[in-house]
Amino acid sequence: MTVSGMTGKTVVAYIGIGANLGDAEASVRNALDALDTLPETSVTAQSSLFRTAPIDADGDDYINAVAGIKTKLSAGELLQSLLALEQTFGRERSYVNAPRTLDLDLLLYGDQQIDTPSLTVPHPRMTMRAFVLIPLLQIDPFIDIPGRGPAHQFVPSVADQAIRKIA
Ligand code: ADP
Ligand code: MG
Repeated sequence: MTVSGMTGKTVVAYIGIGANLGDAEASVRNALDALDTLPETSVTAQSSLFRTAPIDADGDDYINAVAGIKTKLSAGELLQSLLALEQTFGRERSYVNAPRTLDLDLLLYGDQQIDTPSLTVPHPRMTMRAFVLIPLLQIDPFIDIPGRGPAHQFVPSVADQAIRKIA
């Protein structure tokens, strides 16, 4: 735990979870458990699990979910924790959009808009991905994307993307 982690305000954040290698469903479930073990962080909401076809990517279908968390970690600390968890789950970045054991994206961090070389929040591609929008809206149908407005307004534009609830 860092000093900023101890003194920071509690923020509600949303994490996008995806996997399409090995036992992808188990990876997503284990990732949800792992998020709850991060310092100063607890999982407060979780979507169903969904099966989705890969977009601009190789390999099998993905299993996706979204988690809502409360955390005192800064956005940068949270991103580092997510990247470390990806490593723990054995992700190899062999090429862009390669199949992955686990992908963790920081979708929303409170009402903040962040734009640094290593971190962009809201996640810049979240409004174009059914596998993010649908699980996020399941958790909170009225959620706003800072700077973009209600998340639900983007659903028609992803209506052609195959997504099916599995659990
Ligand atoms: P994607 O998840 O878009 O398919 P990657 O997971 O391969 O792509 O990209 C990971 C990199 O993206 C990280 O090294 C991180 O620095 C950067 N990044 C920028 N903004 C975010 C964000 N909001 N969530 C996760 N990673 C982000
Ligand atoms: Mg990612």
